[in-house]
Amino acid sequence: MGQLARSSDEVVRLTPSSGARFSHVGERLWLDFVNTDDMRHGARFDLLRDFESLVRFLEEAGILDDERSSGMRRRAQQQPAGAAASLVDARRTRAALRALAERGLNSEKARQDALSEINRVLGRSAGTRRVEPRADGSFARSFVPVGDAFAALIIPVVESAADSLISGDLVRVRRCGDARCSRVFLDHTRNGRRRWCEMATCGNRAKAARFRARHTDGRAASA
Ligand SMILES: [Zn+2]
Repeated sequence: MGQLARSSDEVVRLTPSSGARFSHVGERLWLDFVNTDDMRHGARFDLLRDFESLVRFLEEAGILDDERSSGMRRRAQQQPAGAAASLVDARRTRAALRALAERGLNSEKARQDALSEINRVLGRSAGTRRVEPRADGSFARSFVPVGDAFAALIIPVVESAADSLISGDLVRVRRCGDARCSRVFLDHTRNGRRRWCEMATCGNRAKAARFRARHTDGRAASA
C-alpha cells in the first residue's frame, strides 16, 4: 500500500507527545474544550475525568501557567467539594457549547441556550483582566479572579465562544466528517473544505478506506 499524501489545505496539528492527552485541533479554545467530550471506538469518552484533568487541559491550552495551576491544585486539596462542583459546572457549560458548535447555525434554541450559559459564567465572577508576557515572547490574556477562583477557571473558554459569536465565525465551525468522531473545529481553509479533525487520524482513515475500496473491486474509481 502506497503512502497516503497529506493534502496541504487541511490543517495538520498533532498533539505534542510530552504527556499531552488533549487534542488541540479545534483552532479555538472553546472548540478544543468541547472536544474533551471525545469518542473512542464509537463510544463516548470523557477526557474531563476529574478536576485534575480540567487543570491539565487549561495548562496545555496555555490558560494556566505553572504558578496558577499549582495554586488551583492546592486549593482543590483544601476544598475538594468546591473543585468537584466546578468540574460538574464545566461539563454543563461544555454541553451547551457542543450544542452551539454542532447546531448553533440552524438552531435558535442552541444559540439561546449557549448565550445563557456564556452569560451565566461571565456574570458570576469578578476579577481583573490582564495581558501578560509568556516565556516564549508572545502575549496572553489572563484573568485574575477575586472570590471564587474555581468559578473563574473556564471564563477564558466562554470568552472564546463569545468571540466566535461576535466575529461571525460560527458559519465555519464543523464537525469531523467521520461519523465515529465527535470532534469539532473551525475551518480556516480558504475554500472551506476542511473535513477532518486531523489528517493523521480520521483523514487518513478515510483515504485508506477509499484506497481499499478502489483496489479490492478492481475497477478504477471515477474520482
Ligand atoms: Zn475526526
